Amino acid sequence: MTATIIDGKSVAAKVRWQCRERADELQARHGVVPGLAVLMVGDDPASAVYVRKKIQACADVGIQSHKFLFSRDEKQSVVIDKIRELSADPKIHGILVQLPLPKHFDLQEVLGAIDQEKDVDGFHLYNVGGLVVGGTVFPPCTPYGVMLMLDNSGVEIAGRNAVVVGASNIVGKPMALMLMNREATVSVCHAKTRDLAQFTILADILIVAAGCPNLITGPMVKSGAVVIDVGINRLPNGQLVGDCDFEAVSRRASKITPVPGGVGPMTVTMLLVNTISSAERSCADRSPAIAGAVGAALID
Ligand code: NAP
Repeated sequence: MTATIIDGKSVAAKVRWQCRERADELQARHGVVPGLAVLMVGDDPASAVYVRKKIQACADVGIQSHKFLFSRDEKQSVVIDKIRELSADPKIHGILVQLPLPKHFDLQEVLGAIDQEKDVDGFHLYNVGGLVVGGTVFPPCTPYGVMLMLDNSGVEIAGRNAVVVGASNIVGKPMALMLMNREATVSVCHAKTRDLAQFTILADILIVAAGCPNLITGPMVKSGAVVIDVGINRLPNGQLVGDCDFEAVSRRASKITPVPGGVGPMTVTMLLVNTISSAERSCADRSPAIAGAVGAALID
């Protein structure tokens, strides 16, 4: 079998086109320009690249972005004060704190200061809890993008065996919850999982988010499985790869995402979707834009 490529760039382009239309509609009907505040503490080069990409993507679809930079040794209280000020600002519909934060910051305290109605990364405990009980205000962007790619590729989820490799708070755990909420039977593997292959071989849907190049080899994948590779790894020769041995896994899978060009473009795109949904809610008295299991058909 040779897998069909799930092209994240083209799915992302369609969703961004819809974002542009929704932003135009907000402007025309309500005179509202969706606003996203991005806070970055320190000068980590990778974070700076991500922030630049997010700001460019906002400009492309008509979201006004506002960037706030703090020095690496800034006090946590100063950053939290700024978050509270932005939480109260009606021009701001989304607040994002670029991670990771310097070590002297308490992540939960910082994230907890964000107005839950503007938590477009979906990391505030309110939104995490919403996901656990099967409904959510803002789904975290990376797993939200994966769900959209699965839906857009016509992958059936209910009743299938899904295996998530990686159990982080921002990717693996919310991914598992979203799949459970769509009635998949989900296993979650992590660094201490013994004999990873005994789990992955059972997966109809295999989501890999571990950050280990070549972790998943061909024989670990069930024939015909759908494989979503979230991993992003830079090899010593500069090449960007995922967590799967792409060539070998492609020969076993029915569908697969490439790296780059798979999940990556979807993550920033879902941030745009969450920001625009928040702006729409602010015009509609904050009735939930997204309720129930994640995977609303955003794409016609
Ligand atoms: P993370 O916080 O480092 O978590 C990695 C997870 O993978 C942990 O749960 C860890 O297990 C598990 N793991 C590590 N080695 C493993 C192994 N050998 N076997 C099984 N599980 C293993 O990373 P993350 O933030 O979730 O990101 C994961 C990957 O996705 C990274 O490559 C990151 O760059 C990428 N990523 C991509 C996007 C995108 O938009 N495409 C977005 C976010 C992240 P323990 O819990 O036991 O430590």
